[in-house]
Amino acid sequence: MQAGGCVKAIIEAQPNEGGFPVQANRIRRLGIPIMTSKILLKAIPNKENTGITGAVIADCKNFEPIPGTEKLIDGIDAINICTGLESDDQLLIKGREIFGRNVYGSGDAIRIGEGTSAVLKGKQVAFEILDDLAEHFDYNEYLAISKEYIDSQQHPVRVIERAFDPTEERIWQKPFVIIDCLYGFACNPCEFSCPQGAIRKTSTSTVPTIDFEKCIGCMECVYQCPGLAIFGYNINKDWIFLPIEYDVDEGSDVFFS
Ligand code: SF4
Ligand code: SF4
Repeated sequence: MQAGGCVKAIIEAQPNEGGFPVQANRIRRLGIPIMTSKILLKAIPNKENTGITGAVIADCKNFEPIPGTEKLIDGIDAINICTGLESDDQLLIKGREIFGRNVYGSGDAIRIGEGTSAVLKGKQVAFEILDDLAEHFDYNEYLAISKEYIDSQQHPVRVIERAFDPTEERIWQKPFVIIDCLYGFACNPCEFSCPQGAIRKTSTSTVPTIDFEKCIGCMECVYQCPGLAIFGYNINKDWIFLPIEYDVDEGSDVFFS
C-alpha cells in the first residue's frame, strides 16, 4: 500500500489474525477486509498464462478446505503468500562458528518482532557484553530488562475495552488525542514521542495511558505511532488529525465510512 499497490483482501488460514491487533486495525481502517479461516485453493491464470486474474479461496478448518465454500476473488494481478519470518542470523552464525569470535546478536538477527522488542534485546545484549568484559553493571537492571524482553514476546492481550476519553470540559479547552491501542504488546514510541510526558506505558503488557491535563495537543504522537492508532482532535477549529502512511495531495477529499 505504501508503494501505491491496491490490496483487495487479506486471507488468513487460522481462525484469528496472527499478528498484532493494532496493526490489523490499521489495515481495517483502510477498508481492507481481513478474512480469517480462509484458505487459498488456486490462482486463475490469464489467457496468455503470463499472470493471474483471480484466486479461488474457501473456508477452512485446521488448514483443510471445507468443500462447497469456494469463492472467487477476481480482478487481481498478484497473490502474496506469507509464511512467517525467519531471523536474519547468517552473519551471527558465521562470526561464531567460522571465525570463532564473541559475536552478539540483537534485533532481527535474533528474532523478528516489534521495534521495542528489538530495543530491549539490544539493551540486554549490552549488559552481556559488559559481563564478558568483566565490567561492573547493575544486575537488577539487567534482570528487569531481560524480563521486559521476555514479556515482549507474548501474544498481545486485550487490556482495556475502549480508548481513554477526555472529560467534556477538557474537550473544549485545548486539542487532544485519542489512543486506540487496547492491547498490551511490545511498543512504546508514543511514550517517548510526547514532549510533555503526557503518555505513559509502564511495560510491554500494559497499554499507553494519557494524562489529558499534561497533553497540549501538539499532535507529535500522531505521527510517531507505528500502529497509526492515535487520532488528534481540535474541536474549536473543527480539525481532526489522522495518521496516514502514504502521500496524499493537499486538498484531497477524504471520506469516512
Ligand atoms: S498530542 Fe502532543 S502533548 Fe498530547 S499526548 Fe500527543 S505528543 Fe503529547
Ligand atoms: S506507539 Fe503507542 S499507541 Fe502506537 S501502537 Fe505503539 S503502544 Fe500503541
